[in-house]
Amino acid sequence: MVFTTGQCNLKCDYCGGSFPREKVPWEIEYDLANLKRLIEKDDEAVVAFYGGEPLLNYKKVIWILDNIKAKHFVIQTNGLLYHMLPNEYWRRFDTVLLSIDGRREITNKHRGAGVYEKVLEAAKHLRKIGFQGDVIARMTVTQDTDIYEDVSHLLSLNLFNHIHWQLDVVWSDRWRNFTEWRDNSYKPGLRRLMSLWITRIKKGKVLGIAPFKAIASQAIFGNVYNAPPCGSGVNSVSILTNGKITACPIAVSENWALLGDVKTGFKLMQRPILEPCISCPYFNYCGGRCLYAYRERYWGDSGFREVCEATKTLIKLVLASVPAIIESIDSGVISPEDLLYPPFNNTVEIIP
Ligand code: SF4
Ligand code: SF4
Repeated sequence: MVFTTGQCNLKCDYCGGSFPREKVPWEIEYDLANLKRLIEKDDEAVVAFYGGEPLLNYKKVIWILDNIKAKHFVIQTNGLLYHMLPNEYWRRFDTVLLSIDGRREITNKHRGAGVYEKVLEAAKHLRKIGFQGDVIARMTVTQDTDIYEDVSHLLSLNLFNHIHWQLDVVWSDRWRNFTEWRDNSYKPGLRRLMSLWITRIKKGKVLGIAPFKAIASQAIFGNVYNAPPCGSGVNSVSILTNGKITACPIAVSENWALLGDVKTGFKLMQRPILEPCISCPYFNYCGGRCLYAYRERYWGDSGFREVCEATKTLIKLVLASVPAIIESIDSGVISPEDLLYPPFNNTVEIIP
């Protein structure tokens, strides 16, 4: 992940907006020749632009697209500044992740008035200019989310190839009542979503629900992702604007996450996730979920386990659907390529 700035043009309530300048400066402060050398050493390199809002520094995005060779380019953006990037540059991305939380009222409540409308404008623009890559709706899930309603709403827009979500848990303040939401809203919503997904698979269409596709891919094809599933520290690193290289883009000042710098290089972590995860029967699918949450445990061990329960429910639902998916592949109703996801580490974290 390449930060182009620590600044953001929004102040979503679960994140708070820009990084403090002393932690993630708002301009790239290192020599870009070092970045070029580092990335071009790796024939398989994926460059994902990140921030803050990466398009606030669209000039550096353009410079990197023009001057650095990488196998894939990805951008995570709130979409508000889509017009800053000329169309030919948009077409160079393999994946564009647009932040949107689902229905209009849910998105605008947490991200700000008019954000939902702007994100749809950006997605429509990508369609209009003939963008052929993967457009992913990247949701942050809070206690206001109805997972069935919000994911199916985004699917119904026919603007996004995939929908992915992250629970706003453990790295933020505790919810009013997480377990109540988990048991009475999230779990039943996941079951409805799975029922929709499998019904459509049997008719030949694999809806782009990223966590379902990725966990099913891990079960059927194997080795699709690692531990942690986002790859932080093991096959993915973050290059901050001050040149520091960290395991995870959220862990910008934690010592355990510092892996090197853009000038001298970095060392990947060896098995960053240990107990209780490596003895957990769900480990092959969950991978410890999120390295940052695993290390920091803001909600303590009991809060960690409360989230595990949500993860296990999701994994059990997907695994129960595997025989029907294999049957659909075997009978030619869908192809393995329809299911396999993600095709490379496109920054979708897999486990919400
Ligand atoms: S479900 Fe919990 S304990 Fe099990 S692997 Fe995931 S994070 Fe670790
Ligand atoms: S899932 Fe967790 S460890 Fe991975 S990138 Fe996000 S915050 Fe970092």
